[in-house]
Amino acid sequence: MVADASKDNEALVMSSDPDHPANLICELCRNFYRLGWVTGTGGGTSIKHNDHIYIAPSGVQKELMKPADMFVMDFPTRSYLRKPPVHKPSQCTPLFLAAFDRGAGCCIHTHSQWAVLITLLVERDFGKEACFEIQHLEQIKGIGKGRGKVGNLGYFDKLRIPIIENTAQEEDLTESLEKAMERYPDTYAVLVRRHGIYVWGDSVHKAKAQCESLDYIFQLAVEMKKLDLPWL
Ligand SMILES: [Zn+2]
Repeated sequence: MVADASKDNEALVMSSDPDHPANLICELCRNFYRLGWVTGTGGGTSIKHNDHIYIAPSGVQKELMKPADMFVMDFPTRSYLRKPPVHKPSQCTPLFLAAFDRGAGCCIHTHSQWAVLITLLVERDFGKEACFEIQHLEQIKGIGKGRGKVGNLGYFDKLRIPIIENTAQEEDLTESLEKAMERYPDTYAVLVRRHGIYVWGDSVHKAKAQCESLDYIFQLAVEMKKLDLPWL
């Protein structure tokens, strides 16, 4: 039975377990804030736990969020089980759902400056249609081979991350994000030009590790570009 979203449904987000999704999202966003990934209310995180989707609200300071701020959606029916009346649902919601539809357990959206710079460098040097490609970096091993595939990429594998164009409204990115997911079925991330990145993983642990690995690779790639070192 789907609960009535007009009721507070506090029990859905209140838990003493630090691994409860509502607690984890707050903890993750505090750490992401310190990395400059969710500055000025930008970015967000969502976790799928069984049939429940936990989503950070729109327009709140991500380092100050509390479990009571979380939206909870019923995944099969896409209806809200909990909607805090003081908040607006995240515009990233349809983008997070696109990742969950492809088997993700967690999706992270950041406004990392390294991700933004990569989208600009690829456009300048390889054109608007190009994806980000790099190889021969140890940290590539932090990225999974692809959905349904066992293990991670190896040192000699090429990492490819598609890039989509930004839109005025975040939710309008959904269609091009889904197209990029279809065109690059093994990707765990999509870059958004002049905006940031969406990264997902089978679990919270994997999404976080992939997001960190990618950010490290982007920062390194920007520095390599400055030194005239090739990505491939
Ligand atoms: Zn954003």
